[in-house]
Amino acid sequence: MRVFLRQPGANNMTDKHDWTIDDAERLYGVKRWGGGYFEIGENGNLHITPDHSNPAMRIDFKAVIDEIKEEGIQFPVVIRFHDILRSQVAELNQTFRNTIAEAGYDSPYMGVYPVKVNQMREVVEEIVEAGAPFNYGLEAGSKAELLTVLAYNTNEGALTILNGYKDEEVMQLALLGRKMGRKVIVVVEKYSELLLLVKNAKQLGIEPMIGLRSKMTVKGRGKWESSGGDRAKFGLTIAEIINAARYLKEQGMGHCLKLLHFHIGSQLTDIRSVKDAIGEGARIYAEMHHMGFPLEYVDVGGGLGIDYDGSKSTNESSRNYSMAEYVADVVYGMKEVCDLENVPHPTLVSESGRAITAHHSCVVTQIFGEIKANSSEFATEAAEEEHILVSNMRSLADSLQGEYDLQETFNDAAQYKEQTLAAFKLSVVTLEELAKVETLYWEIMTELQKGLRNLEFIPEELQELDYSLSSQYLCNFSVFQSCADTWAIDQVLPVIPLTRMNEEPTVNCSLVDITCDSDGKIDQFVCEHGITDVIPMHKLKKDEEYYMGLFLTGAYQDVMGDMHNLFGRLNEVHIYGHDDDPQDFYIEEFVPGSSVENVLSIMQYHPSALAQSVKKSIDKHIAAGDIKPREGVKWIDFYEKCLQGYTYLKTSL
Ligand SMILES: *Cc1c(COP(=O)(O)O)cnc(C)c1O
Repeated sequence: MRVFLRQPGANNMTDKHDWTIDDAERLYGVKRWGGGYFEIGENGNLHITPDHSNPAMRIDFKAVIDEIKEEGIQFPVVIRFHDILRSQVAELNQTFRNTIAEAGYDSPYMGVYPVKVNQMREVVEEIVEAGAPFNYGLEAGSKAELLTVLAYNTNEGALTILNGYKDEEVMQLALLGRKMGRKVIVVVEKYSELLLLVKNAKQLGIEPMIGLRSKMTVKGRGKWESSGGDRAKFGLTIAEIINAARYLKEQGMGHCLKLLHFHIGSQLTDIRSVKDAIGEGARIYAEMHHMGFPLEYVDVGGGLGIDYDGSKSTNESSRNYSMAEYVADVVYGMKEVCDLENVPHPTLVSESGRAITAHHSCVVTQIFGEIKANSSEFATEAAEEEHILVSNMRSLADSLQGEYDLQETFNDAAQYKEQTLAAFKLSVVTLEELAKVETLYWEIMTELQKGLRNLEFIPEELQELDYSLSSQYLCNFSVFQSCADTWAIDQVLPVIPLTRMNEEPTVNCSLVDITCDSDGKIDQFVCEHGITDVIPMHKLKKDEEYYMGLFLTGAYQDVMGDMHNLFGRLNEVHIYGHDDDPQDFYIEEFVPGSSVENVLSIMQYHPSALAQSVKKSIDKHIAAGDIKPREGVKWIDFYEKCLQGYTYLKTSL
């Protein structure tokens, strides 16, 4: 649901206090979506406490920006807080451990991180390392991911779960994993995969570990609800599950059947679907036991949601439960059914990806310009023999000096503007007259907008006025690269200024990127009362850079970006917290983003051939005497330097 956002300052009509960071917190909801990692500091800058186990470690975002600038690293930049990643891994595992102990559940938790959520090497390495004390493993969903996981999940105590569609090579790679002493479980997504696996296992003489994915009748609620139900793309029906188990027994491989798997969708918004799925899965597991197929593991898939909009609701971008509640429902839900059915408690596996990675990275960039809805100045005085429509619009504008009816004035202005446009097309109104009418129209709208502040109830048509009069702030980044889901599936991600939050933001704006695509914009924001199409930001100053942060981009957004307009990957900065440092952090690594050469090579160009061609043209003009030789050499150098440079704009002051 979108809500209408009043003009900044509107509330102050009744409540005239100075703006404080509490007002900023109310507006931007940092604590509501920040997962305990972000907070607005007294100085108006965003602060980060990246490690839940060490609340004294506190980083000022402005200090991070300053250091990035000092290092000469160009924005936009992806900033990764590795401590947040580690903290999330520890939190999920520790929550399962504690709940299992508290419930008297008889088997452990052995989770896996699904690498598709963020396959970046540094992310996977960090998760594996932080997860080692918990035997936390990895999940792969494709051949490339499996090849990665076989090389990185070297802990023989941890699980490797293999999902997704598989060919013979994939099966052989999984068996190679078994040969290397790994607990690789091949999850059968469709029946024919089972035959392929058994054949290869027998030929190679390697014992596989097998899982069966159930096509659940429970559907998750949210954007990914088609992952469950009859039309789900993956999984076996109940009949197929029973047939598969019988087939394995016939083949003398009944003992290889280890795991029952289900996944009813990502970002489950309603805890009830989790409860339902656990209930259904536990029943299948118990019945299989009764039928003589003693599975050891139940894998509940992913789906643990993130509260992107901070509303703790069943909104698509939220969830109505916490991590602790989710874990309790898995553990207690499984225990209840198993105890009732008198079967052993299975080892619990989950494949939470979003919940592990979303908070750890964000995109930081400069806002470097403003597109105002009505910025043009144009003289609108009456001319001799001007068209009646121009005079009408002027009289309407003049009438705003006295008493007037908002809705009626709005309607009249809209009508005059339309009529003028039609008259212009018919050569009845001149170009100059059209300019006057448009200028007057926007003057009227601006005036009407002021009047809206005092209304108790705002008519629907006039609500649009705020959006059409709002500014667009130009951001140096690409929506298609940095938050693809915003464009593709209307994913809401929090956006906030990183400084000046102790000042009242007075400009209602939406954000536009630097691609040549009108879809390259953000116009859904997390605000005080819900999702709005504009967000209050601060007035830009000529001599001060203004940075915004796009948050919770660590899951999926980080790795799904595309090459629209050849912008490519962002510069990346890895931050580690450090107590001994005066600023509590250091930049551990800088990973350069795409250069122009990189992105052009992907599109099959040869950068050296491009430079050659430009050089040839310049040489021709040097020979003809149009360009001086020295100047020509400088231009060629400049062209080559740009080829090697960053794809994004240089907007620093
Ligand atoms: C995508 C996916 C996941 C990860 O889901 P999250 O909601 O990000 O935790 C886990 N398991 C399977 C099978 C998936 O396809």
